[in-house]
Amino acid sequence: MGQVDAIVAGAGIWGCTVARVLAENGRKVLVLEKRPHVGGNVRCETDPETGIEVHTYGSHIFHTHIDRVWDFVRRFVEFNGYQHKVLARHAGKTYFLPLGLALVNQFYGLDLKPSELPDFIAAEAGRGTRPCVPANFEEQAIAFIGKPLYDAFIREYTRKQWGTDPRNLGADIIKRLPVRASYDINYYSDYRQGIPLTGYNSLFDRLLDHPNISVECNVDWLEWRHQAPSTKHQAPVFYSGPIDALFGYKFGPLPWRSLRFERECLPLADFQGTSVVNYTDADVPFTRIHEFKHYHPENAAVMAAPSTIICCEYPQTWKLGDEPYYPVDTPESRERLALYTAEAAKVPGLVVGGRLGEYRYYDIDRSIDRALETASGWMSTN
Ligand code: UDP
Repeated sequence: MGQVDAIVAGAGIWGCTVARVLAENGRKVLVLEKRPHVGGNVRCETDPETGIEVHTYGSHIFHTHIDRVWDFVRRFVEFNGYQHKVLARHAGKTYFLPLGLALVNQFYGLDLKPSELPDFIAAEAGRGTRPCVPANFEEQAIAFIGKPLYDAFIREYTRKQWGTDPRNLGADIIKRLPVRASYDINYYSDYRQGIPLTGYNSLFDRLLDHPNISVECNVDWLEWRHQAPSTKHQAPVFYSGPIDALFGYKFGPLPWRSLRFERECLPLADFQGTSVVNYTDADVPFTRIHEFKHYHPENAAVMAAPSTIICCEYPQTWKLGDEPYYPVDTPESRERLALYTAEAAKVPGLVVGGRLGEYRYYDIDRSIDRALETASGWMSTN
């Protein structure tokens, strides 16, 4: 590619979407990816023996209520209609998440009706007797669901997930978990949901398959920018790597939570009967087990195969050089982020985005939405 109108540094979901939108609007885009493959943490691999699509960086389920995101992604892939369910193991029993009639009735041994659940939960949560504005994760969670449910399903899982007492965490994380006065056990409230029929990698390949896009893997833009030919070096950059790395960590590193996955192929047709089971007690060291074949129920051959691939997820303390997964939202990290964001705003021709760039806990659809917004906003002024 000769002339380059924009460089996209990082080929995750945000970068690939930005590249596509720019390319469709006539811009020549050079995508640089430091890993050997595109797709960021949504990247999957197909196990050659079983044909199972393994989510290399942990389960990713596409779900959205944003019309323009739904319309956009379906130009590239068709979804298989998979609806995500998460089960929870606590004290030797299996429950259906999220917190709704199925879980509450089983846990308390009751037979509550939909109209009775809100009052029951409110009484358990002692609403009206607690501080109005919960100051931290624990207070927020107890105000939502009461202490017994919090103790059984949330406290220890959260401690394992975040490596800290839930009282040290911000209240926002728990708002991701819905509470429903019904037997709806769909983990997400978005009915537009699924896994690409042709696999996640086909989404990235197709997003980047455009005559105005060229892709180079194994190229870290942070290093490349110092040696690049000046014509390319000066092109505007859409960067989706860690924002602190961009500035040599000069205000200190932003903290992340990392994950380690232990994968195993078992000589069983089905290990746990569903794609994800959370282990909410302290005596189990991992947070959840993923069983990938359940993401493709439409694939009869894979479902019937006499083996299955499971993966135990172990949250890890993060240090520089480890894979960043979840931003750790604390007053200190927010302050540090503000310093980096202000620094980035001073660099002409630089746009920072995505989970790593914005240091935000984005779902796939939010990342696409932000990319659509950013790319079209940029084109209206450039
Ligand atoms: N969570 C929990 N118990 C569970 C599932 C979730 O305590 O069984 C809490 C935990 O703090 C977690 C947060 O809810 O970080 C958000 O959960 P979600 O399933 O959305 O996390 P993700 O799948 O993005 O890791």
